[in-house]
Amino acid sequence: MSTDQTTSKNDLLFARAQQSTPGGVNSPVRAFRSVGGTPRFITRAEGPYFWDADGKRYIDYIGSWGPAIVGHAHPQVVKAVQDAAANGLSFGAPTQGEIEIAEEICRLVPSIEQVRLVSSGTEATMSALRLARGATGRDKIVKFEGCYHGHADSLLVKAGSGLLTFGNPTSSGVPEDFVKHTLVLDYNNIPQLEDAFESMGDTIACVIVEPVAGNMNLIRATPEFLQRMRELCTEHGAVLIFDEVMCGFRVGLGGAQEMYGITPDLTALGKVIGGGLPVAAFGGRAELMQKMAPIGPVYQAGTLSGNPVAVAAGMTTLKLVQEPGFYERLGAAAQRLVQGLSDAAREADIPFCGDAVGGMFGFYFSNNVPSTYGQMMAGDKERFNRFFHGMLDEGVYFAPAMFEAGFVSGQHTDAVIDETIEAARRVFKRIG
Ligand SMILES: *Cc1c(COP(=O)(O)O)cnc(C)c1O
Repeated sequence: MSTDQTTSKNDLLFARAQQSTPGGVNSPVRAFRSVGGTPRFITRAEGPYFWDADGKRYIDYIGSWGPAIVGHAHPQVVKAVQDAAANGLSFGAPTQGEIEIAEEICRLVPSIEQVRLVSSGTEATMSALRLARGATGRDKIVKFEGCYHGHADSLLVKAGSGLLTFGNPTSSGVPEDFVKHTLVLDYNNIPQLEDAFESMGDTIACVIVEPVAGNMNLIRATPEFLQRMRELCTEHGAVLIFDEVMCGFRVGLGGAQEMYGITPDLTALGKVIGGGLPVAAFGGRAELMQKMAPIGPVYQAGTLSGNPVAVAAGMTTLKLVQEPGFYERLGAAAQRLVQGLSDAAREADIPFCGDAVGGMFGFYFSNNVPSTYGQMMAGDKERFNRFFHGMLDEGVYFAPAMFEAGFVSGQHTDAVIDETIEAARRVFKRIG
């Protein structure tokens, strides 16, 4: 940790923030509680960088947890937002911009025939669940340990005490009555999923999954796991929901579903599609989506849904990621980073490995890339925390918890990545 703690403006702001806001933050991970120390208060960002209240520059590897895929404050995105804002911020009536982004999403994501815009990923998954339950007339849902789908009540659930028992709330304030409908299974465990469908398949409304998990560090689903999930859902009349809030437009233009070649019934999107402003969405087969109000019986609404300024940022971002070679460059940047970090760790004799899928990456202080939540949790957290703070001192900002994926943007050039790897080489020596 830095030695100038007492004079840091970040410290002063953090102390002040805690007076008016619980924990000083508006989303828990920002508080640095997993890694310790003082969160950095960000004053501005540009390209692959942001600056904190002390004026210190960081290479940013969270990119607002995904949205900043074309780099911070991209001139075209900023211009689109300014132009939209000048015409009024919100109308509570439909606009042409909403049609355009809906058409673009339907064109780009293979399984989406119709889409509804909302303002957060939480709303998107919550509404997709309601639709799945409404469409099937069933209550039970299946999720996987370590997958995060936002903070709706039925999704804040961890595995129960035994196999195929229903879950326990992970938050106080979530009634047992809600989570008794949520079955929590192990990620990448096909036999368990088969057992669940065998014993209660005709009561399962849906399976919701992050096809590339980014909320238990980075863990890929095996193709067989997703394939079997698709078959079981089809066989038993359950709705398959891909939560691509993080991996959509991140692992590739058509999301994880295009990469794996698997067609979900519903997809939740967020993060990238807002380009840094609050846009999220859920969509899928038209026949399902037609069950939504105002034409169907499943209710859902939002004062700021399809907000014109937010849609302008999202639409411009979706145009920019379609520039030729964008995802090739993004993927190459993430690979270069993970390879460079792994080489540097090896030189320092530190157990370390990494993985990258498109523009998201994970690194693990362990010898093997994990494929389940349990394996990920077994990583060396102490060493991660020392690495995190060492890198922060060096001006590199990774996610402030071992349990999070990282993100590169189109502005993370080879030079930026190499600067990061050089810093890591110094830090690995110090923490070895
Ligand atoms: C971030 C995220 C969410 C929640 O989105 P919010 O906009 O934070 O509500 C849901 N699912 C996944 C996979 C996410 O990464």
